[in-house]
Amino acid sequence: MPVFDDGQRETEVPTAATVETDVVVVGSGPAGSAAALFLSSLGVPNIMITKYRWTANTPRAHITNQRAMEIFRDLGIEDQVLADATPHELVGDTVFCTSIAGEEIGRIRTWGTRPDREADYRLASPCLTVDIPQTYLEPILVRNATARGTQSRFSTEYDSHTQDADGVSVQVLDRLTGEQYPIRAKYLIGADGARSKVAADIGLPFEGAMDIAGSMNITFKADIAAYCDHRPSVLYWVIQPGSNVGGIGAGLVRMVRPWNEWLIVWGYDIAEAPPVVDEAAATQIVRNLLGMPDLAVEITGTSLWGNNEMYATHLQSGRVFCAGDAVHRHPPSNGLGSNTSIQDSYNLAWKLAAVLKGQAGPSLLDTYSTERAPVAERIVKRANKSGREFVDLFVALGVTEAETEEDMVRQIEERKANTPEGAAKREALVAAMELKNYEFNAHGVELGQFYESAAIVPDGTRRPEPVRDADLYYEASTVPGSHLPHAWVGDNTRRSAMMDLAPYDRFTLITGIAGEQWQSAADKVGHELGVPLETIVIGPGREVTDLYYDWAKLREVTESGVLLVRPDKHIAWRSMSMPADPESALRDALVLVLGRGVPA
Ligand SMILES: Cc1cc2nc3c(=O)[nH]c(=O)nc-3n(C[C@H](O)[C@H](O)[C@H](O)COP(=O)(O)OP(=O)(O)OC[C@H]3O[C@@H](n4cnc5c(N)ncnc54)[C@H](O)[C@@H]3O)c2cc1C
Repeated sequence: MPVFDDGQRETEVPTAATVETDVVVVGSGPAGSAAALFLSSLGVPNIMITKYRWTANTPRAHITNQRAMEIFRDLGIEDQVLADATPHELVGDTVFCTSIAGEEIGRIRTWGTRPDREADYRLASPCLTVDIPQTYLEPILVRNATARGTQSRFSTEYDSHTQDADGVSVQVLDRLTGEQYPIRAKYLIGADGARSKVAADIGLPFEGAMDIAGSMNITFKADIAAYCDHRPSVLYWVIQPGSNVGGIGAGLVRMVRPWNEWLIVWGYDIAEAPPVVDEAAATQIVRNLLGMPDLAVEITGTSLWGNNEMYATHLQSGRVFCAGDAVHRHPPSNGLGSNTSIQDSYNLAWKLAAVLKGQAGPSLLDTYSTERAPVAERIVKRANKSGREFVDLFVALGVTEAETEEDMVRQIEERKANTPEGAAKREALVAAMELKNYEFNAHGVELGQFYESAAIVPDGTRRPEPVRDADLYYEASTVPGSHLPHAWVGDNTRRSAMMDLAPYDRFTLITGIAGEQWQSAADKVGHELGVPLETIVIGPGREVTDLYYDWAKLREVTESGVLLVRPDKHIAWRSMSMPADPESALRDALVLVLGRGVPA
C-alpha cells in the first residue's frame, strides 16, 4: 500500500494495483490545477492527472479578474502571478479599428480602467484585474500545488470510474507505457474541459449547444510597440472585409506579451470543413489585420476551437464533481472562463476538506452544485450575449448592409461624412460603444455571485434590490450568501484587506468592540464542533482598526452584531446584534452550515 504522511510525500513506491488518495483531480487546466492547489493547501491528499505532457500549450485565457486575484492572494501566490502578468494599467484601451496601422473607429476603457469605473473596482477589492496568459498561469498553479503535496501525473488519461458507498475507483491510462491502472479515492473532480468525459460519464444535464461557431487562433511574434505604447490594451478589434470571429464579424488581435507576442483570433464557418492554414496563409491574415503588408512576422502556431453556449444545470453525482469548462462552455467574451473555473474549485475544495476531516456532514457537498450551477448559467448567457451585441456596432457602421467588400469599406468611411447619414452613423456609434461596457466593464457579473443553499443561513433579510445595473455594477452587502465586502483595516504598522482576516483554512467571525462576547462563544462552539473558528474584533485597540471608517458603513450589522464568514469568503450567517445567548445562536448556525444535523 502506498502510504502518505502528513506532508503527502510518498513513503513507499505504489504498485499498479494499490494507488490510493483522497481526491483524484482530472485535468491540469485552471480548474484542475487550482483544485489541486486548494486541496493541498488544506492538507488533503490528492492526485492530479492530466492527459498531455504539458500544461496549456496555447495562450487562451488572459484576463484574470479581481475575484481570481483575491483567491491567489488568499493562497499566498498573488506575487507570483503579478510577477508574470501584464499589469492593470496596460490592459485598458480596447481599440476598434480598420487595422492596427489603420484608422480607429473608437476606443473603450476596459476592465475597470476608466477613472470612474476604476473607483468602483478599487473600492470593491484589494486586487485589480491583470492579464496573464494561460501558458504562464497554469505552471504557477501546478508548481505550487505540487510543492504543497499534490501528486501530479502528466501523460495520464482518465478512462472511466465506478463509485460505491465508500469511494470512487478511477481507471487511468499511462500514455507513456500504455498501462492502465486504478486509483482508489474518496472523491473525483472532473476538471477535464469543455469535452469533459467525466461529465458525460456521470450524465450531467446540460442546456444549450456546442460548436455554434468556429474560431482559429494564430500566434505570432512581431514588435508593433509603436502602435500600442500610446493606447495600451490587450484587445484590438479589427473590422475590415474578410475578418470574422466566431460569428462576431471582426478579427481580434490579442496581446500575449506587450508588445511583441500576439494571438489573432479569426473566425471560420463551422458548417464547412476546418480550414487548413499554412504559414503563408497565416502570415497573410496577420499582415491584413495589422495593416502592415511587409511586416516581418514569425508565426508560432495555429489551433482551432469551437464557440459554445452550454451549461450544466447540475454539477455533481454522488462522489463525483465537475468544475470549469466541463460545466460552463462559452466564448471568451467578458473573460470569464478561467476565472470562473478557478472560483468553482475554490467553492468545492474547502467543502471536500471539511467533510474529509469530519468537520462537516456529506450534505455540505450538495451545496456545490446549488451554489455554482446558477453562476455557470449566468456567465454562459452573458458571454454569448456580449458576443451577439457586437452586431450593434456593425449595424451602426452599416457593414451588415454591405454586399461587397468595396461597399463595406464605403460604409465604414461614411461615418466621416458631413451628411445626415454620416451624423446618424456617428450617433449610433456612441450607443453601440456604450453597450460594450457589458462585455468589458461588467463588474457585477465579475464579482456579484450570491449563494442560496443549505450552507447559507438566511436571516430573514433580502438582498437589497440593485440600485444600478446588476451586470455592470457590483453592490457590496453582508446579507447571508454575499461575498465579504472589501475595506482596508489595520493599525499603525500594517494595512490588511478584510479578506485577509478570513483565510481559506478556517471559518471567521467578524464583530466590533460591543460584540466581544462572541469571542468566548466562538471558542466554545469551535472546540465543541472541532471546526477552526477565529474571531476578529474590529475597533480601536483591538486586532485591527477600521482605518478609514469604511467597514462601519459596509457591515450592515450593529457593532455588537456578527458575520460568520466561510473559508471562501461568503457570509454564511449574520446576527444583527448580540442575542441573549450568542453561543446557542452561533452553534445553531454552524450546525446548519456544516450539514451537521438539525440544531438543538
Ligand atoms: C481564445 C480564448 C481566449 C480566452 N480568454 C479568456 C480570458 O481572457 N479569461 C478567462 O477567464 N477565460 C478565457 N478563456 C477561457 C479559458 O481558456 C477556459 O475557460 C479555461 O481554460 C477552462 O479551464 P478548465 O480547467 O476548466 O479547462 P481546460 O483549460 O480546457 O483544461 C482541461 C484539462 O483537462 C485535461 N484533460 C482533458 N481530458 C482529459 C482526460 N480524459 N484525462 C486527463 N486529462 C484530461 C486537459 O489536458 C487539460 O489539462 C479563453 C478561451 C479561449 C479559447
